[in-house]
Amino acid sequence: MRRDVTKYGFSTRSIHAGEEPDYEAGATGDVVPPLHLTTTYVWYNPSKPVSEYDYVRSSNPTRKAYETKLAAIENVKYGLAFASGMAAETAILQALTSSGDHIIGFDDLYGGTRRLFDKVYTNLLISYIDLNDLEKFEATIRPETKIVWIESPTNPLTKICDIAAVAKVAHKHGLVVVVDNTFLSPYFLKPTELGADIIVHSTTKYIGGHSDVLGGAVLMSDDDLYEKVKAIQNNCGAVLSPFDSYLNMRGIKTLSVRMEQHQKNAFVVARYLEGHPKVNRVLYPGLESHPQHELVKRQSSGFGGMLSFELKGTLEDAEKFMGQLTLFVTAESLGGVESLIELPSKMTHVHVDKSVREAIGISDTLIRVSVGIEDVKDLIADLEQALDSIN
Ligand SMILES: *Cc1c(COP(=O)(O)O)cnc(C)c1O
Repeated sequence: MRRDVTKYGFSTRSIHAGEEPDYEAGATGDVVPPLHLTTTYVWYNPSKPVSEYDYVRSSNPTRKAYETKLAAIENVKYGLAFASGMAAETAILQALTSSGDHIIGFDDLYGGTRRLFDKVYTNLLISYIDLNDLEKFEATIRPETKIVWIESPTNPLTKICDIAAVAKVAHKHGLVVVVDNTFLSPYFLKPTELGADIIVHSTTKYIGGHSDVLGGAVLMSDDDLYEKVKAIQNNCGAVLSPFDSYLNMRGIKTLSVRMEQHQKNAFVVARYLEGHPKVNRVLYPGLESHPQHELVKRQSSGFGGMLSFELKGTLEDAEKFMGQLTLFVTAESLGGVESLIELPSKMTHVHVDKSVREAIGISDTLIRVSVGIEDVKDLIADLEQALDSIN
């Protein structure tokens, strides 16, 4: 390695960490390292492999470069890439829990995470609580509690939690603090700097950034945690393929400029909606009206590109509005360059009981937007014509 990337800023690390131009004499001189598709590696003889690699699942140069880049942009020692966000979460649970253990989760966690906890890990006890209530959090901790699982902001309600405050209580009781950093991405939030022990990502979202690669990641600096999760990565095998690793490395190189533009556009969209007479309320952590605006300002360097808003009227109005949009695409998922819109009550959160949805604030007309990086005037014009078309 000719470069010490640790001295560089975020964008420089995004582009250069994990990658070196090929300066070997007689080699190709690639500026961008090649994609290594081989599944196995040659040995000189049975006691002497040619390289550090022996089999693709254990490690391969493309995934290793990508894992190095991921760790560099999260400011941690280790990165591990998985085939999906859910595979990454599973690896954490496999590595750190056994039957009878207890996990505490933020009460508005991603639906797939709740399903994994409730339907697959039925041998674990799970408590969902509002982690803004630290007394309740501490009272919920038992001798068997192993992990506190945080998302900030949550979706679709954009609830924030004070990661440093939760980590302080958690560490007093020996818990591992896991933060799902999918929504803000390392560009806006560095959970380990606030006390988190493990960061998990669905890289399917902002890290990949183009809605075309499924993937997940686990990041940490602790040697012991790393060895445990790495063993699961190799032994259970839900690894990211070399090709998908290559695509995600490509995605990361533009993460900082994409996140800036997502946020810029999200602000314009949020302010436009906030001033619109057919909109009840807008949930975007960047707005002064967001109940936890001060907290999010303190712990992250930005607010991201995700927002939700509640339309006045009925479910039918919400569906009609969405049907009139021509630029926004109705779809689940988020974090790609294109703007996506979805109706949680009928799409991502349809499996949550209506009574629960209403109790936590997911009404029939709450609409979630993943604001893309198109020209924002085109986004506003599309919203305007669709809003004009309803009652
Ligand atoms: C999408 C998502 C996941 C799951 O990731 P997959 O890549 O779809 O498996 C986990 N957490 C959050 C916050 C997500 O948005």
